[in-house]
Amino acid sequence: MNKKVAFYTLGCKLNYSETSSIGRLFNQAGFDTVEFTNTPDVYVINTCSVTENADKKCKKIVKEALKISPQAYITIVGCYAQLKPKEIAEIPGVDMVLGAAEKFQIVDYITDLTKNPKAVVYNQPVSEANEFVPSYSFGDRTRTFLKVQDGCDYSCTFCTIPLARGASRSNTIEHAVEQAKEIAESGVKEIVLTGVNLGDFGIRNGKREDRFFDLVQALDEVEGIERIRISSIEPNLLSDDIIEFVSHSKRFVPHFHIPLQSGSNKILGLMRRRYRRELYAERVNKIKQLMPDCCIGVDVIVGFPGETREDFLDTYNFLNELNVSYLHVFTYSERENTPAAEMGGTVPGSTRADRSKMLHILSDKKRRAFYESQLNKTGHVLFEGDVKDGYMHGFTHNYVKVRTKYDPVLVNEIKTVCLTAISPDGDVEITESDEILVH
Ligand code: SF4
Repeated sequence: MNKKVAFYTLGCKLNYSETSSIGRLFNQAGFDTVEFTNTPDVYVINTCSVTENADKKCKKIVKEALKISPQAYITIVGCYAQLKPKEIAEIPGVDMVLGAAEKFQIVDYITDLTKNPKAVVYNQPVSEANEFVPSYSFGDRTRTFLKVQDGCDYSCTFCTIPLARGASRSNTIEHAVEQAKEIAESGVKEIVLTGVNLGDFGIRNGKREDRFFDLVQALDEVEGIERIRISSIEPNLLSDDIIEFVSHSKRFVPHFHIPLQSGSNKILGLMRRRYRRELYAERVNKIKQLMPDCCIGVDVIVGFPGETREDFLDTYNFLNELNVSYLHVFTYSERENTPAAEMGGTVPGSTRADRSKMLHILSDKKRRAFYESQLNKTGHVLFEGDVKDGYMHGFTHNYVKVRTKYDPVLVNEIKTVCLTAISPDGDVEITESDEILVH
């Protein structure tokens, strides 16, 4: 009988796509992937350095794993494993810790499944993690996260990602296109392009060889993929070329997620971000001018050191006036070995919480206004397989979340619908439409 492996992923889309790839490596080596609770022989826990209390969470997952399968071999990989290998190795029950350069050789490292009295650590400095290892997620039939870029050469003062994942590096366009074709052949309808700093795509072995825009144009020609979404792109890298191309593209949908982080130029400077709020507003205006129905999501951090009430209100008012559709609000928390953690002007926890709450309310307001602006319009919906209280969900091309009565035939289908009303739980109700929509 084959040995069994189970996975647990913390963190971002990139981690999910990497877990999937690691899963395929195990399958090629003769392991069966099973649910976390199905007494596996090996557990792989893919950690994140951005997750709040990463160490506590990691400990808890290890404990749960050992309750289910006391003899299971436990391996920890991911950003937190790169940053804090020693701490992780000390968690009781952990057998192996692999860093960023080693995680994709995991199957070679696991030679013997006998539990170790003390965890072994394979962790080279992150500067060794300079190879690009492509990956994409599978399992969810409707949508696949395709990783085309890894690492980051920026040095935002709050961020540990460059320390955990290393320098910017990318797949080749040819290989990314090949992977997109493979994904299309498997029946998946939507690709979400992911990377740590996706807009910086095109660096190989430390040299710029092409640009993100080249990749966008090449992927737009891949037959069989119905739609492609850009997961997130820095405002300074979202060029007019890209916006104009997406506005008439065959497959790229009108949805951008653009990190702002702060609407105060003073705070953007302290964060060492590579743009100011004026550029951000210009990007949003350009998008809306060409694609009035485009959905725009914003990442924003509250409580960064030195953020006064006025600075926060700058952010609040800037976002309030900006034509964006929803916010992802992050509460700043100190990370070891980052310049921000050494800055003065610490914002008290309760103030951070209040500011976060204000922006969450603003986000709800923005989302509702965006959804209302879409009522009585048509949209292409890709239906997903989840069922809740007899309803299923899906997202339109421009990221409106809709619901309809569960119908198994609709799962993984794209349908043209009319958006009719906002339901009590905030999703949009639909009716079928005969119109053919070209986005
Ligand atoms: S752009 Fe800034 S926030 Fe994003 S990964 Fe790079 S350093 Fe971190």
